[in-house]
Order: sequence, then structure tokens, then C-alpha cells
Amino acid sequence: MTQFHQLSVHELVQGLKNQSFSSTELTEHFINRIDSLDRQINSFITKDFENALAQAKLADKQRADGDNRPLLGVPMAHKDNLCTKGVLTTAGSKMLYNFVSPYDATVVQNIANSGFVSLGKLNMDEFAMGSDNESSHFGAVHNPWDLGRVPGGSSGGSAAAVAAGFVPVATGSDTGGSIRQPASFCGVTGIKPTYGRVSRYGMIAYASSLDQAGTFGKSALDCAYLLDPMSGYDNKDATSINRPSEDYVADILATATDSKPLAGKKIGVAKAYFGAGLDSEVEKSIRTALAKYEELGAKIVEVDITDPAITLATYYLLAPAEASSNLSRYDGVRFGYRCENPKDLHDLYTRSRSEGFGAEVQRRIIMGTYALSAGYFDAYYTKAQKVRRLIVEDFKKAFEKCDIIASPTAPTVAYKLGESLDPASIYLGDVYTIGVNLAGLPALSHPVGQANGLPVGLQLIGKHWAESELLKTAHIYQANTKFHQASSPLAQTDAP
Ligand code: GLN
Repeated sequence: MTQFHQLSVHELVQGLKNQSFSSTELTEHFINRIDSLDRQINSFITKDFENALAQAKLADKQRADGDNRPLLGVPMAHKDNLCTKGVLTTAGSKMLYNFVSPYDATVVQNIANSGFVSLGKLNMDEFAMGSDNESSHFGAVHNPWDLGRVPGGSSGGSAAAVAAGFVPVATGSDTGGSIRQPASFCGVTGIKPTYGRVSRYGMIAYASSLDQAGTFGKSALDCAYLLDPMSGYDNKDATSINRPSEDYVADILATATDSKPLAGKKIGVAKAYFGAGLDSEVEKSIRTALAKYEELGAKIVEVDITDPAITLATYYLLAPAEASSNLSRYDGVRFGYRCENPKDLHDLYTRSRSEGFGAEVQRRIIMGTYALSAGYFDAYYTKAQKVRRLIVEDFKKAFEKCDIIASPTAPTVAYKLGESLDPASIYLGDVYTIGVNLAGLPALSHPVGQANGLPVGLQLIGKHWAESELLKTAHIYQANTKFHQASSPLAQTDAP
């Protein structure tokens, strides 16, 4: 018998509407799974079940009283860097181990207003810095496909929770790949929208010129269901762009998926994305997916993009620089962790920060502060900003020749927990995703098969504001293939 966690959001919406089941039943099903199975993967930092059940009951009552919001009563969960009023918000850090936000992020508010029921807060790399979720103060997350492997990061808890059948959809954030790469490692779909599409108000900052919230789901359509209420202008975020809102779900549902549905579309492929470092099994899945796209009518054209090695260096200069500035607010006085018995104010700052931040965060603060220091600012920070401009220009040129650029999402499949390579090798794993953030472009990752039994994701990069096109394209692929339906062993495990 099909269980609730095997249904798509689309099916959940229909079922709730037809009263085939209630939000309370749905919410209880997911809570039961999380309660009995999450100890295997550690995807939740905070389980907010009492609230969730109260919300679900309210949703059922509202629906019975004629409230026809389609998403009313559908369960979801948030990455733990989105502020939730009255609920612990830690950003995966000891620094915020006791921080209860006094307000909701705009995204959280918008999602709640659409009727979704939040089950709690999901594990992540500390302050979203990382690619494997091993830097969380609350412990690593295990990949539902193979408990000995990482789920990717930094939104590892979000990707793993969806892949484990703990929530139908989840929010994430993506500064350099943190939605797309864990989506790839966990065999789910994830989208990072255009910079400015989704409000950053109440999302704990890592690198503000790159950070953008997005969604995870089992399919492009499921991602769209959560992205719709999240998107839109917010006057509380100065970088939010005021554009007419879009309806991604309606766009997808109006898309024809058969008989060469992608005829006329040009998909750009860059040699630079297939260079040394790309696992040969991953490459095979990617090439097969590109062939499928051709079969669906798309034309593959060759494009040039900036040398990924240059993009990587630029990102790992700018992101830590912005982080060092953003994280200066954690001083042991205003938020969260404070050291014991400080001798004086200086000791309070120093020890609170050395004890409150983990090793990777400290490394980034040191790198970033160095790049911003008076003597090196021009040589590093200013130079990197200039290179960033060139990266943007290169993407623009590439998009003169195509509608979408396709690439592997990550050079490898999920690696083993604890294998943690040295930081520089981990940074190398971000090579295909970070250019997108530097240019502010939208991109998604969707599953296209497996390499050695582990999921592989294909990245689709769009022009600015092309979320709808990306989601529709991935939907067409998903309507004609079954890769996104492959579920992890944990998702196939029943709660006792
Ligand atoms: N892995 C990248 C980093 O550590 C990206 C992280 C992210 O997108 N939040 O910076």
C-alpha cells in the first residue's frame, strides 16, 4: 500500500482537498517516521511536533470551515538558518545553541501563510559553511542511501530528510551549492532561485551577496509547490527585487511533456565542466541524461564558461570575506554562547568566539579577515570582485548561444563520513556550483541515475529569473524518466 511519504506534494494537495485523509493523519505519519528513524540519520536539530500537530488540527478545522488554500495542512521543515519565532534557530553552531528567534524569517512567514505545517528545524553545516554536513555542532547527518556516507552540505539535513521520507519538501539555502550538491548526493531535486527572488530577511547570513534560500523535493513539481509561496518582493530585504510574482506550479502543470516537448531549446555544455576530477561513472550518467534531453527535442551546443579553477578561487576569497564581516556580530554579548568567567571584555570576546565557533568557521573568518585587511584588500578582495564581474560576463556570453547550461552538479557521488578530506579538497567539490552564485543565476539539480549505487545529479543553470523555465525543463525530463522516483533504502523502511 502506498504510504503518505511516498506521495508527491501534488498528490497530497489532491488528497487533502478530496478529504481522502486529513492533515492530522499526514502529520502523525511523518512524526512517527522521524521519531523512529531519524536516529539513523540525524536530520533534525529541533523537532517541533507539538506545534506541528496543533497546526495540523487547525488546518483540518479551517478546511472543514471552507478555507481552500491548496497547501493547507501539508507538512514540511526548515533549514536551521531560517529564523522561526519561538523555536530554536542554531545555524548548526554552538554559538547559537540556545538562540530562540524573536521573529520569523519572511520565507518562514510566507510558507506558514500558505498553509504548510512545519515539523521543525533541519541539520546543516555550521553557518552553512561546508559541503558534507560534518561541521554541524549537532553531529553529522548520514545519507539515507548509505548510512556510512555524507548527505552533502551545507543543507544536508534538508536533503536527507526529503530522501528519507521524513518530509515531502524542505527549505534550504545555497551560497555556493548548498542546495544543489546535497540534492545530488541524496537523489532529490533542489532549486536555488535567482539572487533577489526570495527574501533573505531572517535568514542567518553567511555571505550576503551570494546567499539565497530555495527548496528540496522529490521532483521539480514538488519543489515548485514550496517555492511559490517563498518567492516575491520583501521590503525588509534591500536586495529583494520587485518583479511580478510567478506561479511555478501552474506553469509546470500547463507544460506539455510528450512528443519532443523541448524542441527549439538549446542546452549549452561547457568542456570546462567535464575536466579532470570528474568521476568517470558520474560522467556516464550525465552524458546519458544529456542524450535523453536531446531525445526530448533539445539541441546540445558547446559553450565557454570561465575556467572553474578561477571561479573556485574567487568564491573562496569573497565568501570568507563576507563571512568574516557577517559573523563579527557573534561576540558573546548579543547572541547565544558566552564563555564562562571572562576576565575582562577582551577575554569575553575572544573566548566566546574561540569556544563558540567550530574549526571550519574559524578558518573562514581568518581567511576572510586577512583578505579584507588594509594591506591586502586591493590585492585580494578588490581583485576577486573584478574577476567576479568577468565571470558574470562569461555567463552572459554563454547564454547568447543557449537557453540553459547543463553540467554535473558535483564531481563525485556522496563520499564516506569521516573521510573528510583536507579543506582544499572539499572546496574542490564545489567547482560546478559556485559560479552560479557569483553570477546570481538560478540553478537546479535533479537526479539522473546512479554511480556505484549512489545518486548522481545533473545541474541546469538558467538565465536570471528563469526559475520557471528550469523547473519546467526538469519536469519534462521527470515526466519521461523514472530516476527521481528511485527511493533511498531508508524511505523504503517502515516506521515500526
Ligand atoms: N560548500 C560551499 C561553502 O562551504 C557552499 C556552501 C553553501 O552554499 N552554503 O562555502
